[in-house]
Amino acid sequence: MTLAVDSLRVVYREGDHGILALDQVSLTLEPGRCLALVGESGSGKTTLGMACMGLLPKSAEVRGRIILDGKVLDGTDETAMNRVRWAELSMVFQNGAANLNPLHRIVDQVAEPLIHHGGAGRRSALDRAADALVRVGLGPDLHRRYPHQLSGGQVQRVLLAMAGVLDPGVLILDEPTSALDALSKGIVAKVIREAVARGRAVLLITHDLEFAVHQADRMAVLYLGQVLETLPPGDLLSRPLHPYT
Ligand code: ADP
Ligand code: MG
Repeated sequence: MTLAVDSLRVVYREGDHGILALDQVSLTLEPGRCLALVGESGSGKTTLGMACMGLLPKSAEVRGRIILDGKVLDGTDETAMNRVRWAELSMVFQNGAANLNPLHRIVDQVAEPLIHHGGAGRRSALDRAADALVRVGLGPDLHRRYPHQLSGGQVQRVLLAMAGVLDPGVLILDEPTSALDALSKGIVAKVIREAVARGRAVLLITHDLEFAVHQADRMAVLYLGQVLETLPPGDLLSRPLHPYT
């Protein structure tokens, strides 16, 4: 699938003042490609991901369009967005561990999108969730654990398994490697490579330049809510055009 962000502008309203988080941002995520969105903290990276998912808070004023395979997504239409989320478009959230339910076993949580968004029955959903966990290096001995019984890197891999369980056409990863051990980082890299090889479009949001350079086909540099330039990963370190880059 192709996801196009067209002239996106997001202002967070707080009382009588506003924070301009994104200004005229246009990007395209193409099938079989990984685009890295890099930029320092506060540059608007998470806002872009959340806008694509239709998950910005009510205080956000959004202009511009998000277009999935030629269809304009209305981020405020929950019913329409829920048809798209998980199955066609999914995201691993920054600090996503907070989205796991502490009272449910991880395999049940990974199975949830299959049941609620993929029309799977409980038995088959649990089997597929188990396969998805194994693919991110979490063996059967861990499947019946609760989130607090896993390490940070393992939790991050649960979130990755969950976001990818329906094999969505577009996968957005927000800081998937921050504070990860080398093994978990390698698995994130493998998941990105495999998704790209299957023709999925991947948006890798990160401030880890080295990781981005290795995984991405193209890089977009975001600064104060604007895309300064997009360039091939090799050029980021050797031939940046803009002084900030
Ligand atoms: P990044 O992910 O690159 O660190 P964010 O998208 O989180 O950047 O934030 C971009 C800007 O928008 C920052 O100035 C941040 O403080 C502001 N911002 C983010 N979320 C909110 C919110 N819910 N309400 C108000 N301001 C926000
Ligand atoms: Mg962020």
